[in-house]
Amino acid sequence: MEYNKFRGDFLFNGKTLLDSNNVLITNKEGVVIDIVSINDAGEDVQTFDGILTPGFINCHCHLELSHMKGLIPEHTGLVPFILSILQQRHATEDEIFTAMQQADEAMLHSGIVAVGDISNNALSIPQKQKSKLQYHNFIEVSGFSPAIAQMRFETALTVYNTFKTNFPSSTSLVPHAPYSVSKELFGLIDSLENNPLSSIHNQETPDENEFFLSGEGKFNLLYETIGVDIKPFYKLTGKTSLQSVLPLISKPKKLLLVHDTFTSQKDIDTLKGLSPAQKTIFCLCVNANLYIENKLPPIDLFFQNNSTIVLGTDSFASNHQLNILSEIITISQHFPNIPLQSILQWATFNGAKALGMDDSLGSFQIGKKPGIVNISNLTKEGSITTESQAKRIL
Ligand SMILES: [Zn+2]
Repeated sequence: MEYNKFRGDFLFNGKTLLDSNNVLITNKEGVVIDIVSINDAGEDVQTFDGILTPGFINCHCHLELSHMKGLIPEHTGLVPFILSILQQRHATEDEIFTAMQQADEAMLHSGIVAVGDISNNALSIPQKQKSKLQYHNFIEVSGFSPAIAQMRFETALTVYNTFKTNFPSSTSLVPHAPYSVSKELFGLIDSLENNPLSSIHNQETPDENEFFLSGEGKFNLLYETIGVDIKPFYKLTGKTSLQSVLPLISKPKKLLLVHDTFTSQKDIDTLKGLSPAQKTIFCLCVNANLYIENKLPPIDLFFQNNSTIVLGTDSFASNHQLNILSEIITISQHFPNIPLQSILQWATFNGAKALGMDDSLGSFQIGKKPGIVNISNLTKEGSITTESQAKRIL
């Protein structure tokens, strides 16, 4: 059999940063055969500066918003951002298809191998069918008025069934956010059988908690602007948004909480009290948080609590690039106490496990085919800098 042999200054196997004495051996297709000592590796070892890591997993993206690159101003806060998104939905299908293809290719070249992608319509299916990336499709549904719950559910179910036909084992139906889904609609989503992996935008702005705790904040402005009178059905819960809606998401075995910018220790404690059959995962999209709210989530708090963390890029509407290394760089710059090894695990092993793709992706375990990425331009000590770059080598 013919082999490929790879060696870097560091070899990250999905959980641990190994030193340069370790050589990764794969077959020609990239299936991992073994990791051996340099003394046993024989000839023809390809050597790289920096880190070799399994391919990155982007757990949160909106491929269908790729045409909105650069359209929305930064640092406006979430509610003006959402209003801008709603006002800017006038691209042609051709523009949308071209932008999705470019975004998909950019992700591939920056070392991403799989994506958890939010879809509100079926436009991304052709791109996903021909893509070299693996996708898990989160078909998103929203509607805050109880009167439209059934209608919104049925519309989303049509999109869901179309995806399910094309991607039978990698399609979910998911709620958009606590502030945009009625109790009735949560109930309908939760009633769907065989929907074990879910995702929800969570605590992306302080207004979201305020909306549930005191009824104040900018979401009132949002509903006023889009002409929805929430008074007849809106009820305060006196709890944070996360604590308010968690009981309404009872079926999924895994729930990705996306953003978590304003999640507190008390919220984390509430999650710890959930049934062990239900796993909650914090999906961080730090560059999007800086873009929209100019604020970062309490990552050190999640780390101290041993929470499960994965990474996402969000979309081109709120990020200048769909690049997981850029997310890693931002986290390492702002949280220098968190070991690089941990952040790399969030970007690889944890992401693959979260999306149910860990049988083939996320680590250099024998038999897997996770893709191989080289992170170059490190410091002498092996730290990531703003100049570091990621490149797919297999
Ligand atoms: Zn999002």
